[in-house]
Amino acid sequence: MARLRIGIAGAGIGGTFAALSLLKTGHDVRLYEQAGQVREVGAGIQISPNASLALHELGLADALAGLGVRPEAWHQRRWDDGRTLLRTPLARVMEAEFGAPHYQMHRADVLETLIGALPDGILHPAHKLTGFDDSGDRVTLRFASGETAEVDLLIGADGIHSTVREQLFGPSDPHFTGCVCYRGLIPFDRIAHLDIPVEAQVWMGPGKHFVHYYVRNRELLNFVAVIDQDTWQAESWTEACDPSEAIIAFGDWHPQIGGILAAVDETFVWALFDRRPMQAWSRGRVTLLGDACHPMLPFVAQGAAQAIEDGATLATCLSGPDAGDVAGALRDYESLRIPRTSKVQSLAAGNKQRFHMPDGPDQAARDAEMARNVTDWSLKSVAWLYGHNAWQPEAPAPAAGAAHT
Ligand SMILES: Cc1cc2nc3c(=O)[nH]c(=O)nc-3n(C[C@H](O)[C@H](O)[C@H](O)COP(=O)(O)OP(=O)(O)OC[C@H]3O[C@@H](n4cnc5c(N)ncnc54)[C@H](O)[C@@H]3O)c2cc1C
Repeated sequence: MARLRIGIAGAGIGGTFAALSLLKTGHDVRLYEQAGQVREVGAGIQISPNASLALHELGLADALAGLGVRPEAWHQRRWDDGRTLLRTPLARVMEAEFGAPHYQMHRADVLETLIGALPDGILHPAHKLTGFDDSGDRVTLRFASGETAEVDLLIGADGIHSTVREQLFGPSDPHFTGCVCYRGLIPFDRIAHLDIPVEAQVWMGPGKHFVHYYVRNRELLNFVAVIDQDTWQAESWTEACDPSEAIIAFGDWHPQIGGILAAVDETFVWALFDRRPMQAWSRGRVTLLGDACHPMLPFVAQGAAQAIEDGATLATCLSGPDAGDVAGALRDYESLRIPRTSKVQSLAAGNKQRFHMPDGPDQAARDAEMARNVTDWSLKSVAWLYGHNAWQPEAPAPAAGAAHT
């Protein structure tokens, strides 16, 4: 196997996982991050079995088990009376079915675990990539500091605003999805009186939905409150805001939602953006990974999971006897990944309609299907998603149904 010099722009969950995967397969990796200190937002993240399986392969099973919460169930509920629409058991079932646990985690715990597993000298903070030159047999990276570096392959894991993507495929604005969300973490003792079980609860109602689950050994409850909104006026995509905005928006919802929001001190409102699936991710010796190439609505909880899968599959494509053939490996990578991530992107977009249905005949039909557990929401119908081993990728899976938030 040829040992490649690989530069990765972006030390988010996707870029850092890819760095570890490519080190594992014997490459010489440098991970460049624009921020002086690598940091994640204060929020939760679901690590589904397809992602935890890939993480276990890096020897991180104990670290995840020590920090993650294994939910008993996904519990989908009606917005006003709290009626159960569908309760899908998870804890033991997930592991038995898909070979790895489903975790709910603090985002910082996930990123710190990954960063902590990097050997010294791999991560280069305060290195903002501003551009690159692909001369056919190598790529020269340019940084804001004026520094340069030479690699055999550049991976843009630099998020939805990707500089690498823009230079490869030209400028294009991401698409405002018509949703904003309020996010936050609440210390357990402030909501203990609500007796919330260890479940991922998803509350669905007209034009909105509300998700909450525990993270970090149940020390914190993570919530995400999503609201349809026609436009996003603010310049930034994230704004600190008064929790009363969310309290008012969910004022007529079930008392449990009001109880959670009443315990919130500080929240941020986020505009949710995505992009249409891309036809190609690579040119020459440069490719993309994660939100840089497939940003999606968080309504299947798969953005980071798919970024993790990208890294495992890319490492596999670059580890065969022909690994020196970078163009060939990138073709394999794209043909294995693009159909799958495109499908997940459309699932996520479709879930906006399913979650936010106004009360009426369509909503009643949706609820009736969920009650029979014969829908796209059942565990079996998402086996293609959660049962995937990205370290042993195969040709694209056959069509299947929708998924959970
Ligand atoms: C409300 C919400 C809930 C979500 N919940 C889930 C969930 O439960 N499960 C799940 O799997 N996903 C979830 N996601 C999606 C997930 O957060 C993203 O898909 C994931 O974080 C993308 O990771 P990434 O590494 O590709 O990009 P990012 O996390 O955006 O990281 C990009 C990194 O690149 C750096 N960077 C940018 N430009 C440059 C440059 N020019 N040079 C160097 N560095 C640069 C940035 O500073 C950053 O560190 C959620 C998203 C939202 C908004």
